[in-house]
Amino acid sequence: MDADGFATHSREMSDLSLRGGIRHAFIEAHMFRLKATGLFDKLIARPRVHFVYLHHVFDDEIPNFRRTLEEIQKTHQFVTYSKAVELVYSGQADKPYVCISFDDGLKTTYRASQVMDELGISGCFFVCPAIVGESDRGLVKRFAETRLHYPPMDVLNWADVEDMIARGHEIGSHTYSHPNMGEVSVEQAIDELQLSGDMLRKRLGGVKHFAWPSGKWENFSAQGGKAVFDLGYESCASAIRGCHMPRSFAAGRRDVCLRRDHIMGAWPLHHNMYFLARSVLVNSPNDYEWPDSWKPIVKRNRHPQDEPPAQSGNRLSFSAPAT
Ligand SMILES: [Zn+2]
Repeated sequence: MDADGFATHSREMSDLSLRGGIRHAFIEAHMFRLKATGLFDKLIARPRVHFVYLHHVFDDEIPNFRRTLEEIQKTHQFVTYSKAVELVYSGQADKPYVCISFDDGLKTTYRASQVMDELGISGCFFVCPAIVGESDRGLVKRFAETRLHYPPMDVLNWADVEDMIARGHEIGSHTYSHPNMGEVSVEQAIDELQLSGDMLRKRLGGVKHFAWPSGKWENFSAQGGKAVFDLGYESCASAIRGCHMPRSFAAGRRDVCLRRDHIMGAWPLHHNMYFLARSVLVNSPNDYEWPDSWKPIVKRNRHPQDEPPAQSGNRLSFSAPAT
């Protein structure tokens, strides 16, 4: 930590608890088995679109961050976030594609973007305009405590963001001020989406992609999912683990909930690779879906030409039990 209590090293963010230790041993054991049986190589080679994301990349994480990207690059083609979204919406993938994104607009991701430039990789940085360029460290600290729920860190400014765009990276919306979108009113949720989109469009000329804060189902709502598309965003991402296998039923869809696998520069290389392989292993058609109870609301966003032709005869009821 520095004099203001801002985190400066990855260890200040690490889970050093007993639970963290047990998790570490669990991953080691599973990865050993996946490698020994040859299953790992088969899983990682499966054609699909895989989104990975991080929050911070401290200087001490840079070497392993670079190694992780180089390792992924051996078996995957990195694509821009927009290209990955396009591939998901096409329902097709002829090889393993991966794209990388970063949540919260932390300053350390600027250095990460330069490392990515050296490797020819473009990322998408999901930012909250309320805090971009905030130089008052007291305010940044309060934002971290009340909105991010982890130790404070310096944040990107608008010049950083513009420079990253000039170098081929993308900027996405992560709401205006990082509330728990599962707890705010529908009106507040819409305001957060609208204000963020308006500011990013005004400052940067456009914004296409959205990822909701904290990323779990309980941190969002069906009405929020609907509003994302109503307000013109082209994609909506969670932080729920998973990947998108090519599926014919996905062709032409725009109402998909994107899944992303969390990786960390500080985690051992094979831990990060384990999460990718595991998402392939446990993948299901549900990796495209919203919770069943949300679907009737979010799906209203489907473009009319994407709708399947009306069927005659018996229609499935939404009250059918989920399978
Ligand atoms: Zn966030």
